[in-house]
Amino acid sequence: MKLEKVLEEYSLSRYNKPISELDNTQCYVMLLDYVKKQLESAPQVEGKKRLYYISAEFLIGKLLSNNLINLKIYHEVKEILAKNGKSLSEIEEVELEPSLGNGGLGRLAACFMDSITTLDLPADGVGLNYHLGLFLQKFEQNEQKEYPNPWITDDSWLEKTDTVFEVPFKDLTLPSRMYQIDVSGYNGKVNKLKLFDLDSVDETIVESGIGFDKKDITKNLTLFLYPDDSDDDGRKLRIYQQYFLVSSAAQMIIADLKEKNIDLRTLNEYAVIQINDTHPSMVIPELIRLLQAEGLDFDEAVSVVEKTTAYTNHTILAEALETWPISYLEEIVPQLVPIIKELDALAKTRSSDEKTFIIDKDNRVHMASMDIYFSQSTNGVAAIHTDILKNEELHSFYELYPEKFNNKTNGITFRRWLFECDPELTQFIDDHIGTGYKKDALELQKLLQFKDDEKALKELLDIKAIKKRQLAEYLKSAQNIEIDEHSIYDIQIKRLHEYKRQQMNALYIIDEYLKIKDGIYPERPITCIFGAKAAPAYILAKDIIHVILTLQQLIESDPLVRKHLRVVMVENYNVTKAEKLIPAADVSEQISLASKEASGTSNMKFMLNGAVTLGTDDGANVEIHELVGDDNIYIFGAKADEVIAHYKNSDYVSRTYYEEDERIHRVVDFILSDEMKKYGDEALLKAVHDDLINKDWFMTLLDFEAYVAEKKKIFAAYEDRMAWAKKMLVNIAQAGYFSSDRTIAQYNEEIWHLK
Ligand SMILES: *Cc1c(COP(=O)(O)O)cnc(C)c1O
Repeated sequence: MKLEKVLEEYSLSRYNKPISELDNTQCYVMLLDYVKKQLESAPQVEGKKRLYYISAEFLIGKLLSNNLINLKIYHEVKEILAKNGKSLSEIEEVELEPSLGNGGLGRLAACFMDSITTLDLPADGVGLNYHLGLFLQKFEQNEQKEYPNPWITDDSWLEKTDTVFEVPFKDLTLPSRMYQIDVSGYNGKVNKLKLFDLDSVDETIVESGIGFDKKDITKNLTLFLYPDDSDDDGRKLRIYQQYFLVSSAAQMIIADLKEKNIDLRTLNEYAVIQINDTHPSMVIPELIRLLQAEGLDFDEAVSVVEKTTAYTNHTILAEALETWPISYLEEIVPQLVPIIKELDALAKTRSSDEKTFIIDKDNRVHMASMDIYFSQSTNGVAAIHTDILKNEELHSFYELYPEKFNNKTNGITFRRWLFECDPELTQFIDDHIGTGYKKDALELQKLLQFKDDEKALKELLDIKAIKKRQLAEYLKSAQNIEIDEHSIYDIQIKRLHEYKRQQMNALYIIDEYLKIKDGIYPERPITCIFGAKAAPAYILAKDIIHVILTLQQLIESDPLVRKHLRVVMVENYNVTKAEKLIPAADVSEQISLASKEASGTSNMKFMLNGAVTLGTDDGANVEIHELVGDDNIYIFGAKADEVIAHYKNSDYVSRTYYEEDERIHRVVDFILSDEMKKYGDEALLKAVHDDLINKDWFMTLLDFEAYVAEKKKIFAAYEDRMAWAKKMLVNIAQAGYFSSDRTIAQYNEEIWHLK
């Protein structure tokens, strides 16, 4: 039966009226039900060996369009709806975005599941079903306020199952129920995302924003993603969450094997476990414990677990490499402590280098150390990041196990980050080079033959103009902000962190503001767009948001300045917003302090959508630079080795820059000016001002002058429209390398060996 007829019949039988008379919610439910049925009957990816991708986060985004694209019925559905007076993009607004991730790491896990399925690799994503996800961000009095972000509704992609495991903690045993979401691939097959949850979780314990009783584990265990870890109870809750996750995963894996009557001593022939950052690290001792209970001796269990697991490192920020006091583990999961102590003793027979100790002299357990010793692979996520791991952060481990270290430069799924978010650009590419690139992203390079083709370049500029207008319309409807669609859209969207240096962008805006006040205007208006959530307990990050929002209000209130320069901070930045912002960007801000951004993936999304990168020599920017060449990217600032040397020698003193550079002095002091105090809170502004002068741990002032100079260059380049269009084209053409299909093919060839 034709799709149109199927939907029409569904509409009549469920709602007793034709599609044309349904409201958007009913249309959404109709499409959800239809797609879910299609996915239910779609073939599962099968094979002898299965991957278990364990991650505390899966930032999957809305699923309707993604699934329609993977089922290859997106255009047909859009047309059927249009014929009935409905708009797919309005219907999409009904779907709530599951906020099961913080940022890059969680989004990566989601892109990976899409590519894993598309490449026909059998896999389960394994995570937790946080009821209220990450917080919902609102701006009030120019400050971030946090609210619960519920996303589970009656009609949803989430399916409850009857599978329940018992997870033992010291004083209580909790039932872990499995929920699942189908993950569709571009090949028409499906894998599952398995999310574990506790039935007794109670959303009513939340009070005043996102506050709740952190000790009431039976009611709070899967309430929020990463609750505040600024106090002991918050940190202990994280251990409860992590163990709940990995024990459920380990029990599931063993049950899978037992069902097939497989000797658990051969586990590694049937399963591979990818540990996404250190949050799931306890899966190693937990599997050893469960295998011992199944009759393996300690050495056998260690040996097979070592061969089954692999670890991905996502950061070199010291505070992010998790360590847990052994006393906490004794209090919560005492059954793991003797195993961890045995692993520690075993590790100490392999190396006496303190930097590799699993349990340190302060009785803290280093999760990454356990991962590296007792798994087969440790990978970084971009070439420069892996080099820094080998040569600096994890050098002692690299000397011990050079063969375990490898690089897997991150990637993004083009299904979501091109086909879905920019259908106009997708059509342009189809028209010029055919559709082969949808299977083999490297074919995008065929676009290079059009780099001097005026007609093609003009079309590209027209598409960007359409996406800019669409974003302007969206911002008007969502936040009642009107932006100038002929201005340059300069966009920085990512978690708020000092190392990502939104504060440097803010200082640039101040510099530009002051110039305008002095009568020096930019050639064309500039719209500086931000999107960023700050961790609720990360005070300085919230203060930086305050500076940006205060600047926004100051400029909005100034008719002269606002003609030339605008600041827009998008509320509650998430995947849905990213999909609207990225296709509209002219300039992609990737300005982390060199050596600190492991990879970044928004840099890849922007490039694929024809934005030009303004960035430091950091993370995947380095690889983007190599691919597009000097003419098509704007790189500035201190290099990684220089930065690392500053840290080693403790010789960076921000105050010197403040005192000796007049421009820096002026822009930093402006943070505490009367103009700013008129709209901002003096104490919060002062916190940022003082930090920049007295600490500036991520060396904002070191790179500020170079940043201003490079920004001047990129904005000047924008004015030669054809030359700019050529830069856009080269960026799109060279983005194929950053398809997560390529990343996953490498994981499979070098680590997983699934097929
Ligand atoms: C891609 C993405 C990120 C990662 O952005 P970076 O700039 O690479 O840190 C974070 N959040 C969302 C919603 C994303 O889509």
